[in-house]
Amino acid sequence: MQHQRTIRRSISCAGIGLHSGNKVTLSLKPAPADSGVRFRRSDLGGLEVAAAAEHVGGVTLATGLTRDAVRVDTVEHLMAALVSLGIDNVVVELNSPEVPIMDGSAAPFIYLIQEAGVKTLTQPRKYLKVLRPMSLTRGDKRIAVYPSDHFKVTYSIAYDHPMLRHQSRTIRLSEDIFVEEIAPARTFTFLNEVERLRQAGLALGGSLENAIVIGDTGILNNALRFDDEFVRHKILDVIGDMALIGRPMIGHLVAHRGGHALHTAFAAQILAQPEAWTLVEGVPEVVDVRAAVPARASVS
Ligand SMILES: [Zn+2]
Repeated sequence: MQHQRTIRRSISCAGIGLHSGNKVTLSLKPAPADSGVRFRRSDLGGLEVAAAAEHVGGVTLATGLTRDAVRVDTVEHLMAALVSLGIDNVVVELNSPEVPIMDGSAAPFIYLIQEAGVKTLTQPRKYLKVLRPMSLTRGDKRIAVYPSDHFKVTYSIAYDHPMLRHQSRTIRLSEDIFVEEIAPARTFTFLNEVERLRQAGLALGGSLENAIVIGDTGILNNALRFDDEFVRHKILDVIGDMALIGRPMIGHLVAHRGGHALHTAFAAQILAQPEAWTLVEGVPEVVDVRAAVPARASVS
């Protein structure tokens, strides 16, 4: 039986918003069982918006949440870190409308959560277990989920750019695998997009410190963290966006050329199709196949 978790103590970090360029302080605070992840704006007198698919606002370049006068942007990397480390309940306090971009990955949020420590609560965690396939297609973009005994993600990307065309990866998620294989993957953009974004008043906080920039002949940053860092970042994004379901998922998520709009629309669609899933408490202990193989009898 898996129990719900929160963090052991409050912790803060500071950074800038990728799109606003504004300085922001983010604090994580412990929260009781069944309260979920809630974003609180200290600069708006403590107004809150829950991390839920029903509150999804802007999804053009990042995932935002809105409820009445409260807006919080770019929640996806933090959400991916929280769901992957099994932090079910936490208050995320911000003094600005945008979660800091940090280095463009989820790694700084992993350090923050690990530094705060994890506290196990007495209530069982409920997972959304997929029983029947569901899918959403928009033009050449597609996302689907299939029944599986584990949370797995398959992602494929395809761009018409000399430095980035096709990448695909399937990964079976666990806390350790997320931390090592997915969390460090940074967000990316194309050089010719940067000027367009700036003119639109976006990516004002963007720099080589927090995004991979792909030029016509190579990346402008010193090095990639993984050969396929781009598709790994898309896996990070979809994990964070699907976390807006409000529970960890047991199923195999398969996405092709998705983005925040497709991911978050699919999260809402899943919640609207309760006949295709069920809630289960905890996950059955996975039998380690290697441990189950009897030791080879020695021949003497
Ligand atoms: Zn991202």
